[in-house]
Amino acid sequence: MIDVINLKKSFGSVEVLKGINMTINKGDIVAIIGPSGSGKSTFLRCLNCMEDPTSGQIIFNGVDIADMKVDINIHRRKMGMVFQHFNLFNNKTVLENIMLAPVYTRCQELKKAKRHNRLAAFGKKEQIPVTTTKEQIKKEAREQAMNLLKRIGLEDKANVYPSTLSGGQKQRIAIVRALAMNPDVILFDEPTSALDPEMVGEVLELMKQLAEEGMTMVVVTHEMGFAREVASRVVFIDEGVIKEEAEPKEFFAHPKDVRLKEFLSKVL
Ligand code: ADP
Ligand code: MG
Repeated sequence: MIDVINLKKSFGSVEVLKGINMTINKGDIVAIIGPSGSGKSTFLRCLNCMEDPTSGQIIFNGVDIADMKVDINIHRRKMGMVFQHFNLFNNKTVLENIMLAPVYTRCQELKKAKRHNRLAAFGKKEQIPVTTTKEQIKKEAREQAMNLLKRIGLEDKANVYPSTLSGGQKQRIAIVRALAMNPDVILFDEPTSALDPEMVGEVLELMKQLAEEGMTMVVVTHEMGFAREVASRVVFIDEGVIKEEAEPKEFFAHPKDVRLKEFLSKVL
């Protein structure tokens, strides 16, 4: 699904990613661990086109999204992202947060089709069939959002603002907000690091459910239990390079890299 080839990223004269190669197949759960400042967030941000790589390729569903010429918005929609600090819109209700991106993108598509059809009518070109309306798009997005909220047991929170929620609730809403776009893959950047300890479990449980349903996930995490139990592969990034990569059993039982051994001795 994703092929990262020799990905490099510098900020000014500082090279943060020094040639990352990674293949992510459908259904993979890749856990990325590593010391603070090693480039983990930068890597996820490059995958999601929030940073422009300095060089290298990111082939996503056959298209190089590191190439400036492609319309990254189309591909970004297929990649969900969940952040450490939730990044919910605080001036929108929970329901609005979940509906926003699907409604926006589908309305944009509708607008584009209508514009095309107006021009096509002059040029006697083929019309794009338009079978929906703005109201219909909103109605469907609302239904889907309510179903997602039901799934996580928070349907009674649909009309409240995020500031009234606990960290665990916010993060679970951020996760279903990502799901609302029907992504091919979800990227998680330390999704439990900002949570009070008693709320970590509910978020990890939801992530585990997604993993069991076959969702492709790339998870930067300090939760070694999650990496060990849920990941199909664990990757150690240190100083901008992948120092080690293995199945969890092998990874934790027989770490080879000196820096990884040192890292594990601190976190386990
Ligand atoms: P990690 O997520 O592994 O802790 P980051 O990817 O956030 O690491 O950061 C890696 C390095 O890149 C750090 O030294 C950080 O200061 C630097 N860095 C990250 N983003 C920027 C930026 N926008 N401008 C300059 N330096 C940055
Ligand atoms: Mg980070």
